[in-house]
Amino acid sequence: MKETRNCDMDMSRDRKNSNVQATANEQTIRNIVQEVLTQLTTRNGSAAKVNGSTGPDNRWGVFDTVDEAVEAAQKGFEKLSRASLEQRRTAIDIVKRICDEQANELGRLEFEETKIGRLEHKIAKLQAIKTVPGVEFLRTDAVSGTHGLTITEYAPFGVIGVITPVTHSLPTLAGNFVNMVAAGNTIVCNPHPSGAKIACEGVRRFNKAIHAATGLENLVTIIGTPTIESAQAVFDHRGTKLLVVTGGPAVARAALRSPKRAIVAGPGNPPVVVDATADIDNAAKSIVAGAAFDNNLLCIGEKEVFAVKEIFDPLMTAIGNHGGYRLNAAQVAAFTAKAFGPPKEPGGHHVLNRDYIGKDASWLAAQIGLSIPASTLILYGETDEHNPFVPEEQMMPFVPFVRANCSDHAIALAKKYEHGFGHTAIIHSRDVHTITKMGRVMNTTLFVKNGPSMAGLGLGGEGYLSFSIATPTGEGVTSPMTFTRQRRCVMVEDLRIV
Ligand code: NAD
Repeated sequence: MKETRNCDMDMSRDRKNSNVQATANEQTIRNIVQEVLTQLTTRNGSAAKVNGSTGPDNRWGVFDTVDEAVEAAQKGFEKLSRASLEQRRTAIDIVKRICDEQANELGRLEFEETKIGRLEHKIAKLQAIKTVPGVEFLRTDAVSGTHGLTITEYAPFGVIGVITPVTHSLPTLAGNFVNMVAAGNTIVCNPHPSGAKIACEGVRRFNKAIHAATGLENLVTIIGTPTIESAQAVFDHRGTKLLVVTGGPAVARAALRSPKRAIVAGPGNPPVVVDATADIDNAAKSIVAGAAFDNNLLCIGEKEVFAVKEIFDPLMTAIGNHGGYRLNAAQVAAFTAKAFGPPKEPGGHHVLNRDYIGKDASWLAAQIGLSIPASTLILYGETDEHNPFVPEEQMMPFVPFVRANCSDHAIALAKKYEHGFGHTAIIHSRDVHTITKMGRVMNTTLFVKNGPSMAGLGLGGEGYLSFSIATPTGEGVTSPMTFTRQRRCVMVEDLRIV
């Protein structure tokens, strides 16, 4: 009996070994194919062009209908569930590598399609994907005691329905991919219609290279021609187990209305407070860097400044020294009239001129007849709190500066115009009590002190990067753990070995 068992065990070990051998050989071949593809890609710009292969499905994750996209992502999920953590890691490394090595080409494609932001920052955002956390963020929790051992494992949901913004179409999708696939999920994405081509191109490249290296398919699928209706269909589909929405007020509201669990990375209107103790030069440099990044498209970007009267004038001068171009009162009025239409109903929002979103400062200045150097990073000027640039999320490089009587007044204005989004607030101060007071009052997801807003996402500050900061639903800067569900596994009486 014992011998038979040993013999069985040997045979099964042999079988296992030969399987391991086969997997290793298969893996080696895949790695070689991937390496060749990568080299061809780097040389010729596109794996799609040189590969010529149509693979298992020549759509490579891009589908016409939500049903097809969800079905493919579901099959992708089932295969991923059987794959090793190592294969997940390989898939993620491929996405990071494509974003890094092909950043120039992909960034340019995104810039040409969306026509907003700055090319160098489109490229930088893709290069930064390599810092988004992946499999290494996963953990298992354990409790061991008299009654045995209980572990909590963090499992995937399945297919996640993802909505992405035009402001960072491929970076959001790629960042979501790294987090979500690390946690074992697959994705069906409804991209913003104005950033759909680049998102689809990214999906094709990711899926092709991942398939070549691992055999995994459709870890991310996407709707080729997205609409509001297809977004709703992604929300409603029985196959999507979780929704993750990154965007403005309308889509945030739509997701929050869904009966399905939604993680919502909603809009912001980040205020900056500068008090009398601040390092003025550092404050000016930081405000310009944050507001100029991708022409102020970032949801965390500095949108309005409340500076106390003691340092207001020196701060305005310092902003000019760091790449800002100051508009006088008449120019601010002329520019505001171009950038916003009047509210449609009394007390309503001013209507943002969408043609101005994400444009260069010099282009914006030209709209009021000013010719300024193309290297100008931001426009800025003194306004009162009622100028529409203060309450509205303008997403363009004009920053209004409002003179405050004292730091309490500045904090109260910041609180008022953040609108309770709970998104991001920034302060420049060396007074720890003022900093603490503002942190408490604002109650925002990100609170950055003495640096540019990007420091809140690990770009110049400690911490990690995500392009989806879940604000109204409270998950914060998303990570792989955000996209997991807890499963408890209990052993009664045994396995406590101490
Ligand atoms: P947007 O709201 O116009 O579009 C976002 C996405 O939602 C798009 O895919 C769009 O097609 C879809 N959409 C819009 N209305 C919808 C509806 N009623 N139903 C279903 N889908 C709908 O936003 P945008 O201009 O692409 O991006 C900028 C906005 O996103 C800003 O408000 C910014 O603050 C916010 N944002 C937030 C984060 C964050 O992490 N919190 C990150 C990036 C952008």
